[in-house]
Amino acid sequence: MSSGQEGASSPAAGLAAAVREGRASAVEVLERHLGAIAERDPEIHAFNLVMVDEARRRAETVDGAVARGEDPGRLAGVPVALKDNLCTRGVPTSCSSKILASWRPPYDATVVERITAAGAVVVGKTNLDEFAMGSSTENSAFGPTRNPHDPARVPGGSSGGSAAAVAAGFAPLALGSDTGGSIRQPAALCGVVGVKPTYGLVSRYGLVAFASSLDQIGPFAHTVRDAALLFEVIAGHDPMDSTSLDGPAPSVLDAIPMGVEGMRVGLVSELLAGVEPAAAAAVEAAAEALTGMGAKVETTSVPATVYGLSAYYLIAPAEASSNLARYDGVRYGLRVEGEDVAAMFGATRQAGFGAEVKRRIMLGTYALSAGYYDAYYGQAQRVRTLIIRDFEEAYRSFDALLAPTTPGPAFPLGAKTQDPLSMYMSDVCTIPSNLAGHPAMSIPWGSSDGLPLGVQVMAPALGEAVMFRVAAALEGEAPPAPVPAGGRR
Ligand code: GLN
Repeated sequence: MSSGQEGASSPAAGLAAAVREGRASAVEVLERHLGAIAERDPEIHAFNLVMVDEARRRAETVDGAVARGEDPGRLAGVPVALKDNLCTRGVPTSCSSKILASWRPPYDATVVERITAAGAVVVGKTNLDEFAMGSSTENSAFGPTRNPHDPARVPGGSSGGSAAAVAAGFAPLALGSDTGGSIRQPAALCGVVGVKPTYGLVSRYGLVAFASSLDQIGPFAHTVRDAALLFEVIAGHDPMDSTSLDGPAPSVLDAIPMGVEGMRVGLVSELLAGVEPAAAAAVEAAAEALTGMGAKVETTSVPATVYGLSAYYLIAPAEASSNLARYDGVRYGLRVEGEDVAAMFGATRQAGFGAEVKRRIMLGTYALSAGYYDAYYGQAQRVRTLIIRDFEEAYRSFDALLAPTTPGPAFPLGAKTQDPLSMYMSDVCTIPSNLAGHPAMSIPWGSSDGLPLGVQVMAPALGEAVMFRVAAALEGEAPPAPVPAGGRR
């Protein structure tokens, strides 16, 4: 494919091609994006930290390599925004929590190493719901991020800063983490592509843990091809992560042109029930488009997915309560002194954690406590197994599944902060694939009152090639999408 064509269907790849061929300099590309950040991030607050000096040095290094006739790699000079729960050596990694506000990790996450080795320029650390717990980025200790399509609305969460950064044109690519929907949901609400890979395909070494049996890192991009490129750069075995899968990661870029002719796609009835009419209509229109391209689309049932939310809100807090026990004022970040060690632990955690994180720790501790373990945590794990079995059954008849990403478009700031359950409902369509460990992605499709909506493509474990084929086919047929002020550059 020529780089001209790449410009439209793959803006990040287009930039990388221009830098590699000496038609653009990484420094110029970076300055353009820093300009956009300076102009609009005071309003949007996508970033906790813009790494201006580090990024400039890095861009100069990339240009230096090109000048010497070296190839900096597939992401040469492409600015990438990182969710602030990904470790960056010597650079604050706060998880948008007071407890880690001043913590500087002594190492880079594997994904950071991999994108840097591919020539990317990390521009900064993006805002999130504290420790990735939330669906609106309003649980950040440093104030919310706003949706570039309408600053009175949330960008979704928990990777709201990364989604907003791409949507607002601050960086053509970003990384986030998805435990129950935190990449796909904000991608849908901000009108960009967001991918949650198969559990184990992308190393979590250097991702601050929330719920270890669910967490997965993945890309944000404007287009399916750009998301595929970033996925290929970060996926693959890492000996530093004991849950990392052996063997080669699926090639997705090569699969994309294969199309969907003859493919069997199931529309999950349980995930369509209860969403807003515009969200259901978007999925139905996407299904029709797939039929038009030669896929066989049918409505199907994955019955146990209706219990996904309940199981998730036992399993995720249980794991979080254990993972977050390490913030004790001794090993990391904040310490508030007390009369003795126990008082110091208590005072540190009281001052350092926000309300939602405390709620999760209490829910999780309760679900794991002696006497309740079987009734809550054990039961949730059994439900998880049922969900996995029902998906396996569905994938005997279908190559991929289709569903809404979210029940509706971006909601106003403050609309759900007083009602945790209605906030939790934002992830009702995305949580089932996390519980199953399967890949799933959201692509922009249609709108509701001028705000973007997404449709979700799901596939069985390691089914990324099929998933990206369906997503790319859909992207080619998608109705015109809303564009935010200053967007896409
Ligand atoms: N919104 C969900 C939660 O609050 C999912 C978060 C995530 O995927 N990190 O737990």
